[in-house]
Amino acid sequence: MKVNYRINLISDTVTKPTSEMLHAMIKAEVGDDVFKEDPTVIQLEEKLAQLFGKEAALFCPSGTMANQIAIKGHTNPLDELICDSNSHVYQYEIGGYAFHSGIAINPIQTAEGKLNDQLIADNIKASQDWLPNTKLVVIENTGNRSGGNYYTLDELKLIANQCKTSGLKLHVDGARIFNAILEAGYTTNEVGDLCDSISICLSKGLGAPIGSVLVGPLEWISKCRKIRKVMGGGMRQAGIIAAAGIYALDHHVDRLKSDHLHAKQIESVLKTLQYVSAIKPVSTNIVIFDLVNSFSTQSFLSQLNHHGIHASAFGKHSIRFVTHLDIHEEMIQELEIVLKEKIKM
Ligand SMILES: *Cc1c(COP(=O)(O)O)cnc(C)c1O
Repeated sequence: MKVNYRINLISDTVTKPTSEMLHAMIKAEVGDDVFKEDPTVIQLEEKLAQLFGKEAALFCPSGTMANQIAIKGHTNPLDELICDSNSHVYQYEIGGYAFHSGIAINPIQTAEGKLNDQLIADNIKASQDWLPNTKLVVIENTGNRSGGNYYTLDELKLIANQCKTSGLKLHVDGARIFNAILEAGYTTNEVGDLCDSISICLSKGLGAPIGSVLVGPLEWISKCRKIRKVMGGGMRQAGIIAAAGIYALDHHVDRLKSDHLHAKQIESVLKTLQYVSAIKPVSTNIVIFDLVNSFSTQSFLSQLNHHGIHASAFGKHSIRFVTHLDIHEEMIQELEIVLKEKIKM
């Protein structure tokens, strides 16, 4: 199987650690993190807890595990969580809410993949023997399937207020929270203040090879530590990978802006193409667009492949491109030429 595409737009998870990042990993001081004795893991957890104004944090092997631990940490069996129907916790975590937590889900269809205070209020279940208890709201910021869009601070405030008034917990799936923060202009602390917990991926745009971090209140994170262990996510000398996360937070946050710029450049090229019928407004590093009905995604993707470009279908007529650390300006230019001159309907 060919795995080395020159231009890999399939996801922002495909980045390779830079040599500086690898150096930080090699130098990392390590210990056994199951015994809380890995200083680098502790440093990473403290760094993110502090950034988001939370008491504590928990280093997890994946974003899926961080979300699933959060869901279990916030709920009891027979509870229910509310989310957008396009959200990762509903679409891509294999029904983990039921499997791990024994809860129900209410996936709500929204226009832009974003919940709001009214939708939440309207979907809180009455207290009846035959209904689950609405307990948790999960929002995704930025939204993956909705094309990388983000919540504004005002939208977050309204949601947070609604959750508080209704006694619901609010978890932010912040796999790409730094992409949101850079564009929406709020701070990590402001986001942290408005929710009960956030999961943050180090392995997406930040460019670390592995890892996600869950942040929240101290006592709650202690409970989550136990949940992480029962899921098999207690790691030993994890400082090796935590070091990559620390390096990423120190060096790869601001540069996300150039991923956003590249996505915008791609969007403006797509607007000129006759075989493209619709493009979701680009706001961060994700570009989702539709091909005209007569052009199959399979044919489009294999032609791209032929030119060393890798991307994925996202539904029947849709394609997704994701920009990241390993996509450089000259690749965007090359992509532009391929899209404009080489692709045949
Ligand atoms: C990638 C992603 C996750 C977590 O994915 P893992 O591959 O398990 O790390 C969670 N939520 C969103 C929105 C994502 O894009």
